[in-house]
Amino acid sequence: MSSVRQGDSIMPSGKTHLRIELLVLPLWVALFYFFVDASWHAGAVFAGAYLFSSLLLSPDLDLRHNRSRRRWGVLGFIWVPYTKVFKHRGISHSLLLGTLTRLGYLGVLALFIAFGLSYLRIWAIPVDSLTAAPFDLKLVGILVAGLWLPNIIHTITDRVHSALRRGV
Ligand SMILES: [Zn+2]
Repeated sequence: MSSVRQGDSIMPSGKTHLRIELLVLPLWVALFYFFVDASWHAGAVFAGAYLFSSLLLSPDLDLRHNRSRRRWGVLGFIWVPYTKVFKHRGISHSLLLGTLTRLGYLGVLALFIAFGLSYLRIWAIPVDSLTAAPFDLKLVGILVAGLWLPNIIHTITDRVHSALRRGV
């Protein structure tokens, strides 16, 4: 297993995390197909959310240097404040709240940009269409599953790796 030094402990590298997450994706897609929804578009939404989370929403965005941030390309800098607010392997690596911190962070950022644009009269927030948008509970459930699963696997991998290193 390839590892990188982070602080004084050795953690699985971003590459290892991504490999594990992608390796089990076919299993999740199969379970999803048989037990949740057999339609191709529901499966595509689930797999898309899963890949987005694996590639771009890694819990290791709490580090200054990580592969996930590099994948954001020129937009990578938007994660700098996140690294200041969330310390490594703190709440960013929580099973339930970790993904929420990153989605919430992106949401706050989007709001700032939207308000900035409307303040400058470049773009008006379409309040009417937002409130009129139908709320699809099933779609939200599929998105939550797709976005949360890779991050949960990441956190469990980190914990198992640390436990093995301590010789537990
Ligand atoms: Zn990690």
